[in-house]
Amino acid sequence: MKSINPTVQHVVSQLVQEKDEVTRYNFFRQCLTTMSRFWRYSLGNQMLIFKQNPDASKIAGFNKWKKLGRNVKRGQESIKILAPVTLTHENDQGDEEEVVHFKPISLFDISQTYGEEILEEKHLEDKAELLNYLVEFCQAKDIDVNFEHLAEKGLYGSSSGGSIQIASDVSKNSQTDRLLHEIAHEILHFSQDGKILPKDQQEIQADATAYVVCTHFGLEPPTIDHLALQGSVENITTNLDCVARASRQIIDFVSFISGGVAQ
Ligand SMILES: [Zn+2]
Repeated sequence: MKSINPTVQHVVSQLVQEKDEVTRYNFFRQCLTTMSRFWRYSLGNQMLIFKQNPDASKIAGFNKWKKLGRNVKRGQESIKILAPVTLTHENDQGDEEEVVHFKPISLFDISQTYGEEILEEKHLEDKAELLNYLVEFCQAKDIDVNFEHLAEKGLYGSSSGGSIQIASDVSKNSQTDRLLHEIAHEILHFSQDGKILPKDQQEIQADATAYVVCTHFGLEPPTIDHLALQGSVENITTNLDCVARASRQIIDFVSFISGGVAQ
């Protein structure tokens, strides 16, 4: 397994140590909300942003804000994230080698700035619109999606690696939530690493991915099982890492085909 990023570990330890269940649940959902807003960033940077300003909604550097017609208010403390920098140096054999380093960069949340209005990100109309894009996502990824009478058997959907079944006899909202859940399984749980994850962890990851994607597009997110809060720091970190990966793929695709999202 990959080494755990210290920031992610710090945030997750804080979550695990919180005694009050409601506070813990809200904390977890806030982590996922930060992830939904800053989906392009690495999990480490998402958690750096969360740690410094859990309410941050739109961040940019001093000069980028200036270009957008806004100024950073006096005395504001910046949000620091890490940006990769590639440096070339000579290795022991005398060959040139590229090495990636990380250096802190300073950003500010929109709430720390003033000036011209910024266009709101384009949200989707409703879950039916998202459902169409998700079906297109599956086509692009060679995943068959079939809508079948499943609800009468008490099922909402399932996935089997390259093929998804969704109940045709439930609302569009339920179909959308369920298709997101099954797509997350497809992305995460049919690979070598994914297959060996315990079932309950797979379910949490699928639910949380649906939560992040819906939140990103301004749609009502499905509920997340309180089970998501149980488990070790390592398990929860793995879950966040997988959710960040799956939601990034889906948001990226849907943003692109829905006409792009201002950012
Ligand atoms: Zn599932």
